[in-house]
Amino acid sequence: MNIKDFRLWIFITILSSFFVFFLIQSTPHIVLIGKEVQTLEFGQKYKEYGAKVKWLLRDLPLQIKIKNEINEKKIGTYKVKYSVQHKNKEIKKTRKIHIVDTQKPKIKLNGSTLSYVCPDQKYKEEGYTAYDNYDKDLTSKVKVDIKHDKIIYTVQDSSFNKAQKVRKISYQDKDIPKLELKGPSTINLYQNDSYTEPGYTSIDICDGDLTDTVQVEGSVDTSKIGTYTLTYISKDSFGNEAKKERVVIVKQKPIHAEKTIYLTFDDGPSASITPGILKILKEENVKATFFVINHSSNLDYLIKKEYDEGHTVGIHSYTHNYSKIYSSTAAYFEDLYAMQNKIERITGIKTTIIRFPGGSSNTISRKYSHGIMSLLTKQVTANGFQYFDWNVGSGDSGDVHTKEAVYQNVISHLTKKSNIVLMHDFEGNTKTLEALRDIIQYGKQNGYTFSRIETNTFPAHHGVNN
Ligand code: ZN
Repeated sequence: MNIKDFRLWIFITILSSFFVFFLIQSTPHIVLIGKEVQTLEFGQKYKEYGAKVKWLLRDLPLQIKIKNEINEKKIGTYKVKYSVQHKNKEIKKTRKIHIVDTQKPKIKLNGSTLSYVCPDQKYKEEGYTAYDNYDKDLTSKVKVDIKHDKIIYTVQDSSFNKAQKVRKISYQDKDIPKLELKGPSTINLYQNDSYTEPGYTSIDICDGDLTDTVQVEGSVDTSKIGTYTLTYISKDSFGNEAKKERVVIVKQKPIHAEKTIYLTFDDGPSASITPGILKILKEENVKATFFVINHSSNLDYLIKKEYDEGHTVGIHSYTHNYSKIYSSTAAYFEDLYAMQNKIERITGIKTTIIRFPGGSSNTISRKYSHGIMSLLTKQVTANGFQYFDWNVGSGDSGDVHTKEAVYQNVISHLTKKSNIVLMHDFEGNTKTLEALRDIIQYGKQNGYTFSRIETNTFPAHHGVNN
């Protein structure tokens, strides 16, 4: 084609385009607003933008009827039909709407995507579900392909969207055997009692019952007082090891002595009362027990004197503050050890003889921690302490105000066995100081022996109320 021909060709092309354009514009026709063919994802709403009637580049103000045949609940191809009457002629136009589902189903695996299976066992399916936005539940359509080290889950929805999940399988025993001790983890025995092993069980997820292979390290010699630890070890064939411990405490057997009086003084020492009590005890040649608390270090010499003169110094409390010591077992032991350390600094002796503030039967501790006395009475024993209550009350910290009443309370409650007498040497308690010599003389005249509390003394335990 030469230049001239090309120009002619251009000219003809432009001219014919104008002609076609004119031909279309010369009759009224419907023009759609928006795309003539639309694709909607399932769940997406169709939006009607409408249409216009055009003629010779102008809008004709005619009412267009729109007929929408779309069913949004089903994928498929639908029509939206536009029509208008113009001079006895119906003008029509159609919009095509494709509703499609291109979303993959979702597979959810129960359990982990990495499963541990015992070496010689088969994987047990933990389950799965498959859900599709269009087809809904596809769980029954999931194909499960079991390979040695993985499981492949595949599912397809009705639009052929495919989803896949993989669960890896590792053949190893990840768990330690389940080792359980029968009986309590702390056992209290008296000297020369016999120890009977309460037993144990060990079950391993891969190896099964391993009870017979459990090793017990340590031993108990009940002829010797002390704390013994038994260690139970169970190993599975994969080398996973379970370990448990049992503590056996062998104690001196308490002696419930005949006609014996144990005078005990709580809440001291005090500058006004303790020296007088020590003086009487010395003159009467009677040994007693002092359950002390932390006072000014100016009074430390009295604790030293109690000890030097042959009395037992026991722990009552460092603070004697119920709300603090009975708020938790940790708080109680912190207080207890503080007082044990203080007594050791003064006397050189690490005493294990204790009396709970309020006694083991106190109910005030309920206000601060429910059930704490049930725990503490067990735990102090497990930690090597001996706690002592009383079976003769003098009433000197309550509503008893005269030395006669203190005397009467004590002598009227004496029995022919061990009598642990509760009294106090707190500041200003003159009634007890004044009743003391009469109580001692009554005891001596009536065939009683006076002793100090030792670790094997009958402990006169109360029932625990909290
Ligand atoms: Zn007290």
